[in-house]
Amino acid sequence: MRDARSERLFIGGQWVEGGPAVEVRNKYSGEILGTVPEARREEVDAAVAAAQRAAAVLADLPAHRRGEMLRRAADLIRERREEFARTIAAEAGKALKYARVEVERAVSTFTVAAEEAKRIHGETVPMDAVPAGEGYFGFWIRRPVGVVAAITPFNFPLNLVAHKVAPALAAGNAVVLKPASTTPLTAILLCRVLEEAGLPAGAINLVVGPGSTVGEWLVTDPRVAKVSFTGSPPVGRRITEIAGIKKVTLELGNTSPVVVAPDVDLDFVARRCAVGAYYNSGQVCISVQRIYTAGPAYEPFLERFVRASEEMVVGDPLDERVDVGPMIDEREARRIEAWVEEALAGGARVLTGHRRERAVYWPTVLTDVRPDMKVVAQEAFAPVASVIACDDFDRALEEANATEYGLQAAVFTRDVDRVFRAIRRLNFGGVIINDTPAYRADHMPYGGVRGSGIGREGVRYAIEEMTNIHMVVIRTAN
Ligand code: NDP
Repeated sequence: MRDARSERLFIGGQWVEGGPAVEVRNKYSGEILGTVPEARREEVDAAVAAAQRAAAVLADLPAHRRGEMLRRAADLIRERREEFARTIAAEAGKALKYARVEVERAVSTFTVAAEEAKRIHGETVPMDAVPAGEGYFGFWIRRPVGVVAAITPFNFPLNLVAHKVAPALAAGNAVVLKPASTTPLTAILLCRVLEEAGLPAGAINLVVGPGSTVGEWLVTDPRVAKVSFTGSPPVGRRITEIAGIKKVTLELGNTSPVVVAPDVDLDFVARRCAVGAYYNSGQVCISVQRIYTAGPAYEPFLERFVRASEEMVVGDPLDERVDVGPMIDEREARRIEAWVEEALAGGARVLTGHRRERAVYWPTVLTDVRPDMKVVAQEAFAPVASVIACDDFDRALEEANATEYGLQAAVFTRDVDRVFRAIRRLNFGGVIINDTPAYRADHMPYGGVRGSGIGREGVRYAIEEMTNIHMVVIRTAN
C-alpha cells in the first residue's frame, strides 16, 4: 500500500479541490490511507454540467471507439490489479484473496461492456400489422439517456462501480459517480484508469460526500436523466420518493435463502454455504443468510456447516491466508452482535461464533430461530447464517419464499422434479441450482423483485436501462 495521500475530485477531466478533507481509513488497523475532499454544491453542479457537455460528445462517438476505450480500461485494470486489490482490502476490509477476485471480475465487466458497445441496436416494426400502419415503415433504435448518476455502496468498491460506469459509457452516456464515503479510493483509482484509457473530458466525473447531501443533490438534479443506485432498501425507497421523472435502477438488499435437499453431497454443500455466508464478512447483497434443510438433511448438514464455519481464518484482510476480515466499522459489528443477542433471548441457539473484537465479528451459526427474528426477517449483512429444519422440500421452498425481498435464492438437489418445482415457485430475480445464492457472473441479468429493487444490471441489461427507445416512422405512400 502506498503512503497516505491527499486525493482530489475528478470533474470535467481535471483533478480539483473541494470542501473539507475527509479521512479514509484501513478498516482493520485504523491507519489513515488518504484524504478526499468532500464535494460542495458547486462541485456537484460543475460535475453534472461537465457530464452534460460530455454526453453530447459521447452520443456521437462511434461504437467501435467507445468499445476500444472500454477495452483499454479493462487492460489497465488488469495491469494494476494488485494495486486495486490491496486498495480494496485496506479500505473495505475485504480479504485480499476475495479482493483479487473482485478485480478480475471488474476486468470481465469492462471487457463485456467493450463488446456490448458494438451490439446496441433496435428492430423493425411490422407497421402494417394494424390498418393504421398501412403505408408506413417503422423501426426503433436505442439512444443514450444523457447523464447517469451512479451511486454505489462500500462492499464492492470496484466491481459495483464498474457495473454502472462501463455500461453507461458503452451506451454513450456520461457519468457522475458518487462512491460510498467509506471506500472512495478504489473509485479514484478507476477514474485514473479511465482518464488514461482516453475518455473525453467529463465522460466520467467523481464527487465524494455524504449520501444525504451529495447523493440527494444528484438524485434531484433535473439534468440527470438516470439514477443507478446500489445500496440499502431504506435509501432506495428515499430515492424513488425524491427522484422526480427520471429513470431509476435500484439494486437493494436480500435475505438470501438456500434450500438443501437430502440427496446431495453435504460436505460440498456445507463448504460452499460457508464461503457464501462469510466472504466479505457476509456484507454481500446475496450472502447466504437462511439455510432450510429438508427432512433428514438437517443434522448431518448442520454438523458439517459448523465445522466449515470454524475453519474460516479470521483476521487482517491483507494477510493472504485470511478468509474473513473486519466489518465496515465497529458500529455494524455491534449491530449484528445485538441482533444475535436478541435471537438468543428469544430461544435461538448459537453453535459457533458470536465473538467480536472491535469491527471483527466471527462466523456465526444459529439454529432454532423464528421467522420474525431480525437475523431471519431482515438483511443481516454480516457473517451470520441460520440453519432451519423443515419437514420436507416443499415446505423448505415455502419458507425460503416467505420474505419481502427477492434478489437471488438457491437450491441444492440432484432431483430434476425438485429443480423445476423450485424454478417455478421461488419468486426471486435469480434462482441458482447447485450453488449458493452468492453466485454471480458479470454478464448475466442480475437484479431483484419485490423489496430487492427495480431493473437489472449485467452490462447488456444495464445498457437497456440506460438507453431510451426512439421510434422512427416513415410514411411510404400517399
Ligand atoms: P447505503 O444505502 O448506506 O449507501 C449506498 C450509497 O448510497 C452510498 O454511496 C451512500 O453514501 C449513498 N446514500 C446514502 N444516503 C443517500 C441518499 N439519501 N440519497 C442518495 N444517496 C445516498 O448502503 P451501504 O453502502 O451500507 O451498502 C449496503 C447495502 O447495499 C446493503 O443493503 C446491500 O444489500 C446493498 N447492496 C446491494 C447489491 C445489489 O446488487 N442488489 C450489491 C451490494 C450491496 P454514503 O456512503 O455517504 O452514506
